[in-house]
Amino acid sequence: MAKERIHALRRECGWGDPDRWFMILGAGLLLATLALPAAAGGIACESTRVVVAAEDPADVRAVCDGAASAVAFLARHRVDALTPVEVRVAGELPAGMPSTAVGCCASDGGRVYLLDYAAYAGRQRLLFNLPPDRAFYSAAAAHEVAHAMLLGSSGAHRLGMVAHEYVAYVAMFDSLPPAHRARLLALHPSAQLDTEGVQPALLLMLDPMRFGAAAYRHFEREPDPAGFLGDVLSGRALAE
Ligand SMILES: [Zn+2]
Repeated sequence: MAKERIHALRRECGWGDPDRWFMILGAGLLLATLALPAAAGGIACESTRVVVAAEDPADVRAVCDGAASAVAFLARHRVDALTPVEVRVAGELPAGMPSTAVGCCASDGGRVYLLDYAAYAGRQRLLFNLPPDRAFYSAAAAHEVAHAMLLGSSGAHRLGMVAHEYVAYVAMFDSLPPAHRARLLALHPSAQLDTEGVQPALLLMLDPMRFGAAAYRHFEREPDPAGFLGDVLSGRALAE
């Protein structure tokens, strides 16, 4: 199971790989040249610069909900969330992604690929260890859109993996309805983050969702959440 979870972490175009910058660059170039089925136009999500291309209107709604939540979370904490992002929803991810992946983000943040809900539902347990649910699907979209926003913002593309994932996981947990968030946190009752040293990186590598739960708990206790996120994005906190 631990191995599956490491693969689940790698659902994002190279995140989790020790040579991640090369992988991200490689994935970005790969994604830029892929000939995925053309989407029949995209639908702009309200109050964001996110456009979703999906066949099922229910998928569009779920992805827009997640995207809007991520954008609102970042804006609420004084983080730019202005990157134009196209989310392509399909039954398959670009070639080369692990079979446990549900989505990924191009290196410049301009494009996110996400499985459609039907395909995603078969893999949800690998991520959340809970039964498939559109609220969790929206949360997965929020996670990827948060990455996209950071990758598209000035300077943040140089962030380390722990800093990037901290923001994405906290935005993801924040996007969940309270009952869903409580169920997910209850699966990791003792997860805590030690922001000094290598503990966060190890936790992220061994059990990404446990890292996410620990990050969210840490963020909830933070007396100045916006200030802490600013420190994360400037490299003063959670630097590797
Ligand atoms: Zn991530």
